[in-house]
Amino acid sequence: MDLEFDRKHIWHPYASLFNPPPVYPVVRAEGVRIFLEDGRGLIDGMSSWWSALHGYNVPELNRALRAQMEQMSHVMFGGLTHEPAIALCRKLVEITPPGLNRVFLADSGSVSVEVAIKMALQFWHAQGKPGKHKLLALRNGYHGDTFGAMATCDPVTGMHHLFAGQLVQHLFAPAPQTSFGQPCPDGDIGELAQLVAQHREQLAAVILEPIVQGAGGMRFYSADYLRRVKALCDEYDLLLIADEIATGFGRSGQLFACDHAAVSPDILTLGKALTGGTLTLAATLCSDRIAQGICSGEAGVFMHGPTFMGNPLACAVANASIDLLLSSPWQHRVESIEAQLKEQLAPLEQAGGVADVRALGAIGVVQMREPVPMASLQAALIERGVWLRPFGKLVYTMPPYIISEADLTQLTAAMVDVLGEID
Ligand SMILES: *Cc1c(COP(=O)(O)O)cnc(C)c1O
Repeated sequence: MDLEFDRKHIWHPYASLFNPPPVYPVVRAEGVRIFLEDGRGLIDGMSSWWSALHGYNVPELNRALRAQMEQMSHVMFGGLTHEPAIALCRKLVEITPPGLNRVFLADSGSVSVEVAIKMALQFWHAQGKPGKHKLLALRNGYHGDTFGAMATCDPVTGMHHLFAGQLVQHLFAPAPQTSFGQPCPDGDIGELAQLVAQHREQLAAVILEPIVQGAGGMRFYSADYLRRVKALCDEYDLLLIADEIATGFGRSGQLFACDHAAVSPDILTLGKALTGGTLTLAATLCSDRIAQGICSGEAGVFMHGPTFMGNPLACAVANASIDLLLSSPWQHRVESIEAQLKEQLAPLEQAGGVADVRALGAIGVVQMREPVPMASLQAALIERGVWLRPFGKLVYTMPPYIISEADLTQLTAAMVDVLGEID
């Protein structure tokens, strides 16, 4: 592969073109392994950023793609519809928390967040309250890279100052401190409650990642906290937008992270694992109330419609992925992965360079005291047959649910080996 051309001409995520970190040439992927050009197979501890739940080259998904391709790969969704979209949306309505009955198909996670924000704003506009146009988000949150989504990300880690003037100034509450499994004391919700009460006239919605804050810190928090935020939203008449782009489809141990708290948000975003990691597709679901509100407003329609909306190939493979997930013992697998992560990463609690070790569902996190050197750490992990992408102080894994006990042991052993040496 012409890595020299790649290095000079191709942007990679969050990378420099002039001091680029190494990129590794991949030729195929199979099961939980990514195969490099030189023949090495790496256990994928990232599920390609939360998405490849079933691993790679999955016969059921390939079959669905092939069958759909023979019918049609794409048709526009304006004025046309098709079975893959109908079947998918029916499933999403069935399996997501109660009340989320209306589905908008978007092309990526960030776009589904844009759609969620536009839904909230159009809803309040239609209620005759256009002044309710701000969002309340959480510190350490991550909701995507487009402008609207970025404005709701943590302002510090999201480097909002670079885009000052172009970003809407939203309100931010402290990140929840109460651990998963613990009741949330008044103190942990106090500042958020104060902001909600103080700014109720400007606030359209609270947006958060339920239970697991992902890219903004890999933090797990109390289901009770989430319940209390929902209660505050109800009390002050704000909408709740739950961003389950990372947590959806079982990752946290429940099918959706909101299920831990039995909370139904007004608006829900899904992406990443929706197609089992094969194609880009996302969805924004909302309740009847929101849909009715929007459609009775000035425009009479929801003002969004991407070119590739409802792409049939993506919908068909999403259907196959959800069927495969729901027909598998996914919950048992995720519980086993959690138990194994907890047990096998525990020795790192004693390591000098480690600040915290935690696991929830099929997510394991080692938080270091200092930022880690990504490139050299990655190289050391690759030598041990493992693919991870640490960032900042966080070295974490969310493997495909199909990972075997032996492969997960190799993965955690590599982490223990490499991180144990850092002090
Ligand atoms: C990844 C992610 C997004 C953005 O999705 P993209 O498909 O990368 O645009 C938004 N919210 C959360 C919680 C995510 O993890």
